Amino acid sequence: SPTAAAASAGTDTHCPYCALQCGMALRRAPGGPAADAGEGAGGGTGARTGTSAAGPPVEVVERPGFPVNRGALCSKGRTAHAVLAPHVRLTEPLVRRPSSGLLEPATWDEALDVTAAALERTRSTRGADAVGVFGGGGLTNEKAYSLGKFARLVLGTSQIDYNGRFCMSSAAAAGIRAFGLDRGLPFPLSDVARTGCVVLVGSNLAETMPPALRYLTELRENGGKLIVIDPRRTRTAEHADLHLAPRPGTDLALALGLLHLVVAEDRLDEEFIRTRTSGWPEARSAAMAHWPEQVERITGVSVPELREAVRLFCDTPDAMVLTARGPEQQSKGTDTVSAWINLCLATGRAGRPLSGYGCLTGQGNGQGGREHGQKADQLPGYRKLDDPAARAHVAQVWGVDPAVLPVPGRSAYELLDALGGDVRALLLMGSNPVVSAPRAAHVEERLRALDFLAVCDVVLSESAQLADVVLPVTQWAEETGTTTSLEGRVLLRRKACDPPAGVRSDLGVLNGLAARLGWEKGFPAEAEEVFEELCRASAGGPADYSGITYARLAAEDGVFWPCPDGRPDAGPYGSGDGGSGSGSGSGDSVDTAGQQRAGDGSRPPGIAHPGTPRLFLDRFATPDGRARFFPAVHRPVAEEPDAQYPLRLTTGRVLAQYQSGAQTRRVDELNAAAPGPFVELHPRLAGQLGVVDGDRLAVVSRRGRAVAPARVTRAIRPDTVFMPFHWHGEGRANTLTNPALDPSSRMPEFKVCAVRVEPAAPS
Ligand code: SF4
Repeated sequence: SPTAAAASAGTDTHCPYCALQCGMALRRAPGGPAADAGEGAGGGTGARTGTSAAGPPVEVVERPGFPVNRGALCSKGRTAHAVLAPHVRLTEPLVRRPSSGLLEPATWDEALDVTAAALERTRSTRGADAVGVFGGGGLTNEKAYSLGKFARLVLGTSQIDYNGRFCMSSAAAAGIRAFGLDRGLPFPLSDVARTGCVVLVGSNLAETMPPALRYLTELRENGGKLIVIDPRRTRTAEHADLHLAPRPGTDLALALGLLHLVVAEDRLDEEFIRTRTSGWPEARSAAMAHWPEQVERITGVSVPELREAVRLFCDTPDAMVLTARGPEQQSKGTDTVSAWINLCLATGRAGRPLSGYGCLTGQGNGQGGREHGQKADQLPGYRKLDDPAARAHVAQVWGVDPAVLPVPGRSAYELLDALGGDVRALLLMGSNPVVSAPRAAHVEERLRALDFLAVCDVVLSESAQLADVVLPVTQWAEETGTTTSLEGRVLLRRKACDPPAGVRSDLGVLNGLAARLGWEKGFPAEAEEVFEELCRASAGGPADYSGITYARLAAEDGVFWPCPDGRPDAGPYGSGDGGSGSGSGSGDSVDTAGQQRAGDGSRPPGIAHPGTPRLFLDRFATPDGRARFFPAVHRPVAEEPDAQYPLRLTTGRVLAQYQSGAQTRRVDELNAAAPGPFVELHPRLAGQLGVVDGDRLAVVSRRGRAVAPARVTRAIRPDTVFMPFHWHGEGRANTLTNPALDPSSRMPEFKVCAVRVEPAAPS
């Protein structure tokens, strides 16, 4: 709910947490020093200098004018300012002293000197690939871009990847496979309220991004239907017209069963298949090999439930499938998403307004974070690192020979697994893998085995505690930068207050390290300067930002990419006709194309391209313009239950905590709402174990043991247990999870592994 009745009287910005990137405003906290001038384009009025002794310098207030959340914020966003308080965050660099073995305060010069020397020493003695870089999906576009450039040019290493690999990489791979392009949602979120049916697969957005729930309630108020697919009857599933609860890891079979029934019941869109797709015969054969009765045995979802889902999905002209981590975080995640995309293509629900497939990206800059070159296999502009033309273009922007750019490196888990082996030093920025990586105890061990670890973070996270050098960096409210939301809407986060004197921006850190390693130029600490280069590097690529400027972002409520610098109809996959232009100013209208056209009077003069809210309306981004079916077939999870480990564990999130909890676990209100982990289990299983609500349970997998109180509920399948993963210590859920990797995307199988559950001794 909104935090204050006041309209945005401060600096307009966006939430530091999830990919919804809710609009919010920051105003001077009561009792704080007087406000000062803002910084950055359209910097607003709420900036200030200095911080009060104990509290945060600014507080969050609602920003009703931003169209996506219209002022609504969840508890995480509403309390986001709490982490700005000096006593909860890092305010000075730390260096581990050989004499004490402890992290102790240091000057910036010392911390950067030690880091640069260690990286250079490793590089010169062990080779460039002995240095690793691990980024994050919460980093701004500018940071992601600079980090990738720093790794490839300054360090010359191929060993860079980021935690977004753990988030939605399989959906991205499936999107590229089918459509030739991955943008989480190829349409504005507001379309969800206007379609006829939404199939929500493995998303609990009522807890992960609550303001988005209103699109689903509006959908139903408009007469649309909601199907939720989740092994748990989540808060989101409570809103569904139909809830299907498959066994974890069987979503692919479920999609095949639905497609089988679509064919059997003659509900195909033959015209769409013929004119706008390729590969249907093979996909059809794959689906027809999966009989509904067989799918019922695999998934636990009955044939009548399957038939009802097909009826709801097909008895309306428009429909969407939206996936999230449930089907994506599997060792067959890419094929699973492909199977859901096949369902859309076979029924003609893609490439036109109010229909299509979309991925609900999770992390704050999960979308932009994968576009600008911190991914092992990619260059800025969402270009492929092994594409000679892409290498030549980016090398030209960087002023280097393409031959100096490394080849693609290891994926995130494989990189973490190599630490202490052939990767001896690591620069970690904006990630906390000790909590968030699969097989986390092993990852923690690998981090400890490094010769050198430097961590840039705002707090002393569990991963930072293992570092040799900790570099304290600015937070979202203290710096200007851009993010790209789950809609593909590029947004300006504005600076609203000064940071404490002892911290620097991540860009400043890279600037300082680059200078020490011989790169006086090329790594500016100023975000707008980085953004301008990023736009040039992206020009002509799949994620083209070249028509976007800070001034434009400040004047509008964000711009949807691709936004090439040039003619209004220069976008490669958008439409020049009706339906492409839900105004970025409203985000609500399906057919207000004129609102985004050049010269319509609503944008600053000189801006040629309106951005592209809706993709694929005329053609898909494949060479022949057709969407591609992929013949996905069911296969078992990497670790099926057996006599020793008879249950399935699935993991997920709770409303009041975010990702590894590094920030949200430091907020009193959020800790009160979600103080620790728990094990959700069905009463039948609880009865078999002889446990009741609150009893301590040990969950044991082949990788370790986690202990947490029981939460007995009929909202989960009897053959499945659930744990949220936001905590460290004995209740760390990722101690248990399986790093089996999806062959296409290298996504680990977070969402299902085999476990046993047993009563645990009192602590
Ligand atoms: Fe922030 Fe996401 Fe909550 Fe919105 S839904 S306030 S972006 S955490």
